[in-house]
Amino acid sequence: MYRIGHFGVNAAVAAIFTVLTAPVASMPLRMTAVVVILAFASLPDIDTRFAGMTNHAAVWQRVPVQHRGVTHTVWFALCVGTVTAGAFTFVPWRSQTNLFIVLFIGFTAGFLSVIGHLAGDVITPAGITPLTPLDDTKITLRWCTASNRIANIVFLVGGTILLGVTLSISVITAAVT
Ligand SMILES: [Zn+2]
Repeated sequence: MYRIGHFGVNAAVAAIFTVLTAPVASMPLRMTAVVVILAFASLPDIDTRFAGMTNHAAVWQRVPVQHRGVTHTVWFALCVGTVTAGAFTFVPWRSQTNLFIVLFIGFTAGFLSVIGHLAGDVITPAGITPLTPLDDTKITLRWCTASNRIANIVFLVGGTILLGVTLSISVITAAVT
């Protein structure tokens, strides 16, 4: 899937996330989580940024990452979630003082950003191996190819609209109450 498709899928994930977390988390906390989920939508494909370079980044040569390899696993999602959970604790949230909720939202944001990406890739024939190296079973739904332009645009538009609607409702209800 292209970047726009991943952005759309993660926008849909972020939309569901904002609705489900509304009862427990403050608006700024949830909005920051939405930004994380959108910003990291293509993080697992970071290897493709270096793949085409003739002079690979020095670090990347030392840590070669196979495309749709380790960055496309549940383990990577857990790692990213742990990092974002830690990062969220450094933000001076004014309206959210419960550390447990801050950690929970921070972790979920990072975790879901990768899981949303995996959801976008699982529908393509190339599929993913989300539990490798524990379990090398490849999962693919073969709904459409990663380069299917229509599918990518549908995900982008659909996800963005869904997120826009849920965010609008959140802002309106926050203003009313
Ligand atoms: Zn990918």
